[in-house]
Amino acid sequence: MRICVIGTGYVGLAAGTCLAEMGNDVICVDKDTKKLAKLEKGIAPIYEPGLEELIKVNIAEGRLSFTSNLDMAVKKSLVCFIAVGTPQGDDGSADLSAVYEAVESIAKSMNEYKVIVDKSTVPVGTAEKVTEIMKKNTNFEFDVVSNPEFLKQGAAVEDFLKPDRVVIGSNSKKATEIMQDLYSPFLRTGNPVIIMDVKSAEMTKYAANSFLAVKISYANQIANICEKVGADVEMVRVGMCSDSRIGSKFLFPGLGYGGSCFPKDVKAMINIAKEFGCGYNLLESADEVNKEQRQIFIRKIIKRVGEDLKGKTIAIWGLAFKPKTNDMREAPSVTIIEALLARGAKIVVFDPKAMESAKEIFGKQINYAENAYGAIKEADCLVILTEWNEFRRPDFDKVNELLKTPLIFDGRNLYDKKRLKAKGIEYFSVGKK
Ligand code: NAD
Repeated sequence: MRICVIGTGYVGLAAGTCLAEMGNDVICVDKDTKKLAKLEKGIAPIYEPGLEELIKVNIAEGRLSFTSNLDMAVKKSLVCFIAVGTPQGDDGSADLSAVYEAVESIAKSMNEYKVIVDKSTVPVGTAEKVTEIMKKNTNFEFDVVSNPEFLKQGAAVEDFLKPDRVVIGSNSKKATEIMQDLYSPFLRTGNPVIIMDVKSAEMTKYAANSFLAVKISYANQIANICEKVGADVEMVRVGMCSDSRIGSKFLFPGLGYGGSCFPKDVKAMINIAKEFGCGYNLLESADEVNKEQRQIFIRKIIKRVGEDLKGKTIAIWGLAFKPKTNDMREAPSVTIIEALLARGAKIVVFDPKAMESAKEIFGKQINYAENAYGAIKEADCLVILTEWNEFRRPDFDKVNELLKTPLIFDGRNLYDKKRLKAKGIEYFSVGKK
């Protein structure tokens, strides 16, 4: 099938590359010429496991190309995916300007029937507005479909190639059949393609992300109570999750959710509820608990190390908002480092993939180590902010030797307190006394 994907970010690039991998002819469009220059050489501008290899293969096979020429890409395609960003606007609602700009450009490039697919996360009613913009700017036939994306950063390729489900919101039989045909190679293991009306599909994405955010905030609030009453949240979690109604996923306490999706999608959902006069206190609480979780961790560090951190060196392991990505958008690390810098601390960081992202945010305000052990040399404490696998089993004797003070603040509960105590390391985690 002939496809174009507008917006070559985490979602658009993974989607375009995986669609090409299934034998489709895919043109990825972006405005960012620096990004395009890298992609044309087969270099992924973001870190996603397995993505660069697939980009290279599909470019070589002639199925995948990159351009800033939206007009050409649209003219050559039957299906046009919109995967541009929908960041949080000033009032908390989703800023849809990039979506509408892309739609207007698509409309002006129409030369035959096409399916316009909203893959970006957009509020209920967006497809109707997209249809209006299309009608205003073209007389060619088209259908608008909502196809929200559920991939996880850090596993984008795997998730796109083997999705738990594909949601297609469509009010047209023709467009539904085209979409089912397009997705059938990804669903050979029997996972469902769920066809529904457009509004329900738009709502599904926000409902799913908001639920996951609520789950994380729930786990964090329980962890905070555990810490005060002297219970161990790990034990509580295991005991609780063995109930099949609860399940074991997404209930790990830590530093709260970050990234480019959950924070903005919860706020957008609150905004939708407000607009339609519905209740939203559960969602607002999830957001508040999430913000507070970072502050609780900062207070923990200050209580032990001191209010005034001038002359103190704090080592940070992990900057990305989650492992296996270089993305630091809304990462807890940003809030925590800013708070420590404000109190005068010298910060030395290490992350396996997010060092360049950190340089864009902090520049020369912080110091960048070559590796994990390099970061902790002569530091007054180690603070762990992302649960990368390589931080799970360090050589604690070496850690003890390198740190000026054997003190660890772990925002991801990676270690066993007793084991560290035996090594002479003072250890603070989340949800344990
Ligand atoms: P991103 O910021 O990584 O990428 C967006 C890309 O769109 C950028 O490269 C930008 O240059 C490009 N762009 C913007 N306007 C353009 C235009 N008019 N023409 C061409 N290119 C344009 O965003 P992302 O993280 O990939 O997210 C995209 C959408 O998918 C958002 O709505 C997001 O909520 C949703 N989503 C994201 C994830 C995720 O894990 N990141 C998962 C599911 C859904």
